[in-house]
Amino acid sequence: VDNKKIDFALYVGVVHYPTVSKNGEEIVTSVTNLDIHDIARSGRTFGTQAVFLINPLEAQHQVVERILWHWKQDQSNVYNPDRSDALQNVLWAYTIAEAQEKIREREGHFPLTVVTSAQFQSCDGDVKSLLNKIFLDNRPVFLLFGTGWGLSASVVNNADFRLAPIISHNSDGYNHLSVRSAVSIYLDRIRQTQGRERE
Ligand code: SAM
Repeated sequence: VDNKKIDFALYVGVVHYPTVSKNGEEIVTSVTNLDIHDIARSGRTFGTQAVFLINPLEAQHQVVERILWHWKQDQSNVYNPDRSDALQNVLWAYTIAEAQEKIREREGHFPLTVVTSAQFQSCDGDVKSLLNKIFLDNRPVFLLFGTGWGLSASVVNNADFRLAPIISHNSDGYNHLSVRSAVSIYLDRIRQTQGRERE
């Protein structure tokens, strides 16, 4: 693999359905203002094409639209242009399949779907192996994150790549990050590794 050529379209998906509850039931979670703002900024900083909020509920879409609309107003734009700028890259979809289709329309190829979790039974590799696969496949990448107690098994089993968890440095193994932290850490790792491979 000629790693100097690694370049690809990168999309983030914040999945509100299907996710699991504390008891392992499949649930829809609510969008949160904080997640939208923080993940939009990370996406913008690390050069993602877009951040998709994936939620099947119409009422939740209205919440997202209201938040995005507020920050696109002139007054907000003047007061905090960095935040307005980051939110331009936030899109929403009713389902993961709809977001994948939107990516295919934009990029001309169906995305390689990558899932994350604090604890996988088995995974396909770390960020370096992922980058090797991305280059071989030559497809856009859709990096999915869970909310609630994480992505449901159906999403994990249907993914193309299960990314190795961010591991703990504690003796008790605790590694349950907020979705916002997990997004930033992986995006930074991807860009750092990509940059090193290019040198
Ligand atoms: N309400 C929670 C919050 O504080 O954001 C949502 C937790 S949700 C389960 C967090 C998501 O971030 C996971 O589904 C996974 O996508 C990712 N995540 C969290 N910790 C992780 C880790 N150690 N390694 C990999 N991904 C992780």
